[in-house]
Amino acid sequence: MSAGRNIRGAPIYATSTEPPAEGELYRTLEIEGVTLDIFYGYYDPERERGVLEPMPIFPDFQNDPTYTELGYMLVNADGDVCEHFSPKAEGSEEGWCNDCRYLELHDTCLGVCRCEQNRKNE
Ligand code: SF4
Repeated sequence: MSAGRNIRGAPIYATSTEPPAEGELYRTLEIEGVTLDIFYGYYDPERERGVLEPMPIFPDFQNDPTYTELGYMLVNADGDVCEHFSPKAEGSEEGWCNDCRYLELHDTCLGVCRCEQNRKNE
């Protein structure tokens, strides 16, 4: 299959490839004790259904906080930075979590925040 990837890690299919069906399982991810089933769908179904092909829908950890077994917070690489943001490179001060040295990327768009101040210690 000929496929590239967009910023969220979703495959971009060649036009001759059969598109995935809405609701079809894209991948199951395991991140430090957390299992995430990623299904094809739409981020804005009313506007996108019938216009775009279904795409992998990744969890939104900013609205649905999720923690690893050891209490580390899962984050979206393109999520808004928090008060503990620490740029990993000069010039990335206004970036996403992806620009933060605390992000340990586990997938193209998902990772674990290693900031101890964001860790849940219960
Ligand atoms: S990776 Fe963690 S510490 Fe860095 S900006 Fe994101 S949530 Fe904050």
